[in-house]
Amino acid sequence: MILLKSEREVRYMREAGMVVALALEAVGKVVEPGITTQELDRVAEKTIREQGAKPAFKGLYGFPASICVSINCEVVHGIPGSRKLAEGDIVSVDCGATLGGFNGDSAVTFTVGTVADETQKLVDETQNALYKGIAEAVAGNKLGAISEAIQKHAEQAGFSIVREYVGHGIGRSVHEEPEVPNYGFAKRGPLLTEGMVLAIEPMVNLGLRSVKVAQDGWTVVTRDGKPSAHFEHTVAITSNGPEILTRLA
Ligand code: MG
Ligand code: MG
Repeated sequence: MILLKSEREVRYMREAGMVVALALEAVGKVVEPGITTQELDRVAEKTIREQGAKPAFKGLYGFPASICVSINCEVVHGIPGSRKLAEGDIVSVDCGATLGGFNGDSAVTFTVGTVADETQKLVDETQNALYKGIAEAVAGNKLGAISEAIQKHAEQAGFSIVREYVGHGIGRSVHEEPEVPNYGFAKRGPLLTEGMVLAIEPMVNLGLRSVKVAQDGWTVVTRDGKPSAHFEHTVAITSNGPEILTRLA
């Protein structure tokens, strides 16, 4: 069942979303060669707690940290640890926060120094694909309009869409119905209505789309070892169109 949010509930979600945006901003400021992914996690958790919120991912399905940190060929769900970022890496940071009983969820792929041209293009076009999807998060559209817009943009740029992992509804739980695939057809899926809040999150590979879970049981990696990028926003469908809740005002 898709749980619709009242205006008051969307207000709470805006607050939670703002905390996530602040945490990702803080992480972005310390991304540089030599910093460990564990340090990024500490920066995120500190920012979240300073705002009176809780890290939504810590303990979720048993995940041990406040953010997922996925480097280069890692797609999503990487666990922070002692690995240091290096010049030329890309690092996807996925962050969730709970405030007032509601959640925000957002992800950014950061570049570490200068990265290869095709990798930079992957990062830029994955973010652009997210915004193409968000533009379709309009009451009266079918959910597939979001999916199709993302897929078209990413594939026309020459990249491939990860299919095993998808976006989702979000509210009192981080993951609610419906699933929001990053591929599909505009006329398919549930009708979008005011009060739906969706986490839209394209995961886009530079090479082939197939992925697998690494030895640690968490980290999703590309099978061909090529880089992958991930951008996500929590978006409310309102009478004024899509409202991004996880963006700094
Ligand atoms: Mg996320
Ligand atoms: Mg998500």
